[in-house]
Amino acid sequence: MNPDTQQEPLLAYSARPNTAARQDTLPGRYRWWVMAISMAAFSLAFVGWLNESWLYLFESPIWLNRYTEYAIILAFGLWRIRAEQNPYTRKRLIILVTVVTGFWWLIPWLMPMFEPYAGYVWSQPVFPALHTPGTLTFFLTLLLVFLFGRRIICGFGCPCVGVRETVGFPFRRFSLRGDWAWRLRHTKWFFFIWYVGVMVATQFPPNAWTATLVGMFALVVGLTYFGTFFITPITGNRFYCRYLCPFGATFGLLNHAGFSASRWTLNSASTVGAASRPATWVSRCGNKARPQAKSPASRIVWAAPVASSPVPPMR
Ligand code: SF4
Repeated sequence: MNPDTQQEPLLAYSARPNTAARQDTLPGRYRWWVMAISMAAFSLAFVGWLNESWLYLFESPIWLNRYTEYAIILAFGLWRIRAEQNPYTRKRLIILVTVVTGFWWLIPWLMPMFEPYAGYVWSQPVFPALHTPGTLTFFLTLLLVFLFGRRIICGFGCPCVGVRETVGFPFRRFSLRGDWAWRLRHTKWFFFIWYVGVMVATQFPPNAWTATLVGMFALVVGLTYFGTFFITPITGNRFYCRYLCPFGATFGLLNHAGFSASRWTLNSASTVGAASRPATWVSRCGNKARPQAKSPASRIVWAAPVASSPVPPMR
């Protein structure tokens, strides 16, 4: 066992039963029908992507195309905002749902704008193509992350987190915890290295080899992004972000280099994947380390529940 997990916990937390109309900072337990509705919504978003990308069974109506996911985020987002008890999280959700609805759904759907780009991308990027290397939005996003930190995208602006924090919220208590889950986070570096290869490849005219590299990347990202919807009841809602997302890994690295870096110390605990680690949160502004106050909640150990207790698309 890692030495920094050997401290005595101050608290043991076991998810409490919550009604659908109440959500707060700590994960709760929800009734089966709440989770069933969430899984149905995940499935609809997946079928929408499948229809537009591969099946072409319907003429891509709003309820069955890439925008289906964003309409679902709006519907579930309104539920989350209404039910959320934590004022900060509620404000963050309002911004997140507004950004997804406006920038990811309504603007590209009602008045699509082509983006300027550098290199040889595989299709004409449409705003906001922030995951497509070489586009204007891609570079602006990197700049924003450098200046303000990764959370500006991964907390406030990405539909990936939008769907997982609204539709996926009832499954938050299933998030993987413990030493092995903490080590598993390194899997994302495989996808990150692949993404770097795509960034380089798309700066040159395509050939058979680079076309395969880029095409396979888009396919794998799409399948893992949507495929992880269906393992949410086992892995918790942020599995893709923590372990598989090449974009999040890129933003995370830039986060360390930027003006608003944040990192976990050896003793850190996080709602992002390492909640069993007792802790000290440290943030850095202008290279100056500034420890934040410790709170008892930062030394929570998660107990077993009591009975009953994105190609995304290279968007
Ligand atoms: S980690 Fe990836 S999937 Fe998650 S919010 Fe960030 S960019 Fe989106």
